[in-house]
Amino acid sequence: MDKDLAGFRDRRLAEKIVAKICGTASGMGPVRLMHVCGTHEDAIAKAGIRSLLPDNMEIISGPGCPVCVITAKEIDEAIALAKEGACVTSFGDMLKVPGSASSLAEAKSEGAEVRIVYSITDAVKLAKELPGKEVVHVGIGFETTAPSTAVELLSAPENFYVLSCHRTIPPAMDFLLSEGDTKINGFIDPGHVSAIIGLGPYRSVGEKYKVPQVVAGFEPVDVLYGVLLLLEMIKQKDHGVRNEYSRVVKEDGNKKALDVLEKVFEPCDVKWRGFPAIPGSGLAIKEEYGEHDARIKFRIDVKEAPEPKGCACGKILKGIAYPADCPLFAERCTPDDPVGPCMVSGEGSCHIAYKYGRK
Ligand code: SF4
Repeated sequence: MDKDLAGFRDRRLAEKIVAKICGTASGMGPVRLMHVCGTHEDAIAKAGIRSLLPDNMEIISGPGCPVCVITAKEIDEAIALAKEGACVTSFGDMLKVPGSASSLAEAKSEGAEVRIVYSITDAVKLAKELPGKEVVHVGIGFETTAPSTAVELLSAPENFYVLSCHRTIPPAMDFLLSEGDTKINGFIDPGHVSAIIGLGPYRSVGEKYKVPQVVAGFEPVDVLYGVLLLLEMIKQKDHGVRNEYSRVVKEDGNKKALDVLEKVFEPCDVKWRGFPAIPGSGLAIKEEYGEHDARIKFRIDVKEAPEPKGCACGKILKGIAYPADCPLFAERCTPDDPVGPCMVSGEGSCHIAYKYGRK
């Protein structure tokens, strides 16, 4: 075997799985698998998994980077709050994401109070330290991080607010399949999200569109094995959900996390970068906790904002373009001077492709 398996801890095992993948895919038509997870993209790019696959196979990246799917309008909302005098807290990556005219980093450099936090708990702590100040945390992320936001909202100080930009993954998968722009023969389901939601939400998507899914872990060999399982399922016309990551993911997920999510949030329709509003894919703060909802408290009125000119993030998040298809990639757009969110976040496809130098 002349494939480069340097990125694998157990090269023998990787070699065996690659050989099985090649054997199983032989004679099949084109196979396009999608993952929806920035950590999977990192593992795939780092280990060079795409270069190990036969020519009739592709792994495309979907909307799995929490920073990348935030819209320019949501960034504009956060900037407007900071300019109105609130202390806006966010994770570091978010500061560089461009809104319609500027970023949170630029607002900060112009004097707005924008602070980087490493967790929502730090933001709540800050609100307690600054009782005379309104502190607004930009809540981003999928089912993995949303429970932490929910827990803090259960007992937040009165000067603490959340701008909820949380989203959920299965409605986005449903939308991609319903729209049909992206040909998808199977999904590699995200390990972290699945640890919270379990397998149930994927089953209904799979049954509706007859698309198999495998929940995979983050070791390169986990991903390879997930790919092999998906190929076998496609061949057998098995449209179920298999769990390759059973050491972490359980059938019913994490009940405590799901309970607190349900207590604090309710599904809402929300736009994702490059997507129209996806039904039920957002997490809005329930009325009972409305006194901590930044959108209710501040009534900010921000218009829809266009994508940065020339940026292909929307297409990349839909799996219909690769980073290298963007004419700005690694030229006008780099991690030091990003044009779009996919180059900002360490989980973004453009950032990852730039980092590992792979097309
Ligand atoms: S390379 Fe930059 S401009 Fe192009 S799609 Fe990626 S983030 Fe957007």
